[in-house]
Amino acid sequence: MTARPKKSFGQHFLHEKRYIESIVSAISPKPADVVVEIGPGEGALTLPLLAAAGKLTAIELDTDLIPDLKVRAAAVGQLEVIHADVLKVDFTSLARERGVDKLRVAGNLPYYISSPILFHCVEHAGAIEDMHFMLQKEVVDRMAAEPGSKVYGRLSVMLQLVCRIEPLFEVPPGAFRPPPKVDSAVVRMVPLPPERLPQADPARLYAVVKAAFAQRRKTLSNALKQVMDAEAIKSADVDPKARAEALSPADFVRLAQVPVQ
Ligand code: SAM
Repeated sequence: MTARPKKSFGQHFLHEKRYIESIVSAISPKPADVVVEIGPGEGALTLPLLAAAGKLTAIELDTDLIPDLKVRAAAVGQLEVIHADVLKVDFTSLARERGVDKLRVAGNLPYYISSPILFHCVEHAGAIEDMHFMLQKEVVDRMAAEPGSKVYGRLSVMLQLVCRIEPLFEVPPGAFRPPPKVDSAVVRMVPLPPERLPQADPARLYAVVKAAFAQRRKTLSNALKQVMDAEAIKSADVDPKARAEALSPADFVRLAQVPVQ
């Protein structure tokens, strides 16, 4: 409980009860759920989640935190801690090992790798029922941004194409020990069913979205020069003079569907 938080592991431990309660109630774990927590730390969320679900799998990189966590969890429920970097954990295999189709994933994420964690989880979206994450508020704003917004970009498009993004509530720095320098927010992400997923080659889609936002002030015909020409852009029913920030996620899918010459 009194470990010195490690900056290198992005450790900001949540201590304010009302936010802990709000997160657990947003997740609302049921005994049949297989809940996986990323970065349990000192157990602020782990113990109440465990109390609600009866069992929990937690993935923690910092070995120093694990023994104490296990001791405190023993009286509450069945906790399994996987000592690993979450980016190396195969959620699809984990669901299979746990005998379920879908996992419920949650965590107060280490902010230094929050985007890689989001993309890693989304790669395994087929094995995930939902995700509840604490992130920097600025990241949640970008995830949920709509076309035309200043913060609409690559993260918004790539995540909205595969998940429903639902910002839930904000959390101030004082709710953590030590307080981070930024405001935080909790977001719910629900993977879309297979029939609503983009019908485009993922590598091509990634390349088009990346190029379009790499030079977001430029028109698409300029920004996409290396990827497709103005005629190809028009054939997707998109205006080559438009800028990336004006396009909907569906527009990007149509651009990625244009056959490569
Ligand atoms: N859940 C706790 C809470 O809310 O108080 C701790 C949250 S703290 C922001 C992030 C946690 O993620 C820390 O326990 C940290 O050690 C862990 N962590 C950092 N990098 C990680 C990684 N690559 N894989 C798994 N856990 C990681």
